[in-house]
Amino acid sequence: NTYDDYDQDRALLERSFNLSSKEFMELNNRIANLLENLKVEKESVERKVFERTEELTFANDRLLELDKVKTDFISVAAHQLRTPLSAIKWTFSLLIEENSENLTLEQRSLLLKGYESNERLINLINDMLVVTRIESGKMQYNLSFIHIEDLIDSILLDFAGQAHVRNVTLAFERPDTQLQYVNIDPEKIRAVIQNLVENALNYTTNGGTITLSAKLENNFIKVFVKDSGIGIPAHQQSSIFNKFFRADNAIKVQTDGSGLGLFVSKSIVNMHKGHIGFQSTEGVGSTFYFTIPCADAHT
Ligand code: ADP
Repeated sequence: NTYDDYDQDRALLERSFNLSSKEFMELNNRIANLLENLKVEKESVERKVFERTEELTFANDRLLELDKVKTDFISVAAHQLRTPLSAIKWTFSLLIEENSENLTLEQRSLLLKGYESNERLINLINDMLVVTRIESGKMQYNLSFIHIEDLIDSILLDFAGQAHVRNVTLAFERPDTQLQYVNIDPEKIRAVIQNLVENALNYTTNGGTITLSAKLENNFIKVFVKDSGIGIPAHQQSSIFNKFFRADNAIKVQTDGSGLGLFVSKSIVNMHKGHIGFQSTEGVGSTFYFTIPCADAHT
């Protein structure tokens, strides 16, 4: 018990240091004082930590609020921009189609360029709207059970013309046996695959090859888009999924591009509990892939 301990310690100290009772009492008081000071000090530190935490929580709440204001602002501004842009689109197509006989080749080509630039702006604004929807957690998912091969087939049909014009071979190596169902939002996953194929087309030169494939791996369906394009410089590979990021070599070959496609694709794949990634060697090509869990429950 403590009293016995205290007496024993006291005896030991007195003996070892040859302390008188008075000296021992003094030492004892000093220790008690120090302990008291320490207690006061500890309380003051605790108070400071508490106050600082409150300040930080407040600052954090304020940042979240500002972030929401920013997202809402972009969303409203983007919506507002869409209306005049579709009016411009309508004007351009009217001029091109209705006046085609009266236009010189040069005038027609200028109008087409205007039309295409306007289309790019509309696409960019749509991408920005998707990003604001992702950031505010307002993206809605309508799930259904499908075979991913069917989705890939229908997407590739849309790209056949573009691949032909660019003299790029675009093919899907369909698996021999049908893959398991996946429970996905087909429109969202369609956007992911379209984006990967568009990138492969944009960053692959004449005469190149783009191959899609799909397989079962550890209860996930894994889709690959492989190209023989410009590749991604090793030192920029870690930034590829960041918002607005574009690698140096990509900017050189394709001046247009928002750097939003992969950011959007990643968040869609993650929402489906899958993973997106790539392997790439500059000057040789890239293989992008993503996974989606199989829908076991459905037979
Ligand atoms: P964007 O294509 O509009 O620039 P993305 O977000 O789709 O935006 O892609 C981001 C960047 O990743 C591209 O600018 C490019 O640097 C790189 N990238 C994506 N896909 C490929 C690819 N298949 N080959 C080479 N680089 C690619």
